[in-house]
Amino acid sequence: MEFDLSAAKGYVEEISQADSLERLYAVKVKYMGKKGQISSLNKQMKSVPAEQRAELGKKINEIRQDFEARYEAKEKEVELKEKQAQLHSESIDISLPGFPFTAGSIHPVTRIYDEIVDIFVSMGFEVETGPEAESDFYNFEALNIPKEHPARDMQDTFYISDDLLLRTHTSPVQVRTMERVKPPVKVIAPGKVYRCDSDVTHTPMFHQVEGLLVDEDVTFGDLKGTLTLFVKRMFGDDVPVRFRPSFFPFTEPSAEVDMGCVICGGKGCRVCGNTGWLEILGCGMVDPEVFKSVDYDSEKYSGYAFGMGIERIAMLRYGIDDLRLFFDNNLKFLKQF
Ligand SMILES: [Zn+2]
Repeated sequence: MEFDLSAAKGYVEEISQADSLERLYAVKVKYMGKKGQISSLNKQMKSVPAEQRAELGKKINEIRQDFEARYEAKEKEVELKEKQAQLHSESIDISLPGFPFTAGSIHPVTRIYDEIVDIFVSMGFEVETGPEAESDFYNFEALNIPKEHPARDMQDTFYISDDLLLRTHTSPVQVRTMERVKPPVKVIAPGKVYRCDSDVTHTPMFHQVEGLLVDEDVTFGDLKGTLTLFVKRMFGDDVPVRFRPSFFPFTEPSAEVDMGCVICGGKGCRVCGNTGWLEILGCGMVDPEVFKSVDYDSEKYSGYAFGMGIERIAMLRYGIDDLRLFFDNNLKFLKQF
């Protein structure tokens, strides 16, 4: 007898036409599911003679195997197609130019500021800060600069009131520190200072670092050693350093420190005024008068102080000849650092 296998017809066509995994799976359910059309062929077993059951079983099995083979082949094909479609839709054209991204950089003055602080901190100095709006007492009086002292003319000051002003140097921080702690004192005071000045080499606001060391038996030799080391760490071991007598109201003796001109190497140029030397900082032994105002025993203690303009160090380090460039916020200039 002939078996009716017509229920299984159609899967060849349906598998070949399935264009997604979802549809393909629906075909599988339709034919191979528990009540699927191929699975249902087994029902005929009951109605066929016993001797033909093996043949029917064999035929059904062949259909199942054929279905599985076609299904798997199609499944692979559809999977590949879907993956390719996905890759295509998510692909990135790496040849397209990117969006411009402006990276920030650290301002040259901040860079040098940090570097100076690092050098002194590595020598054991602690960092102290203080108010930028300062009283006349801390800015002048306590530093041996009384009201009628000619040194006040040297520093054109922004006064807020008769007694309040924008500090003209960071020295008041040293006075405030000495008021607070007893020797030994070993501090640097970096920060902003203000003077009524504006030209190629002066801006109304600039940065200073001052240092103060007070202890027993501090000598000018200690000062020379510390500052010579600083200059060499900042500008290189080969740079010559010299100390030249000078005057400051709050130190005695006082000196200015020069280093060999980094522009001409000491031969003489416009920047160094043909001297081969560049002045970079002022220093001296703390005047005993300053100790009086903070109740330090000047018989027992001695100390040294120094101060420098951070912008000046930055100009020399980077070979910049106009101080105002630091404050123009010109990105073309600032991006170089
Ligand atoms: Zn020079």
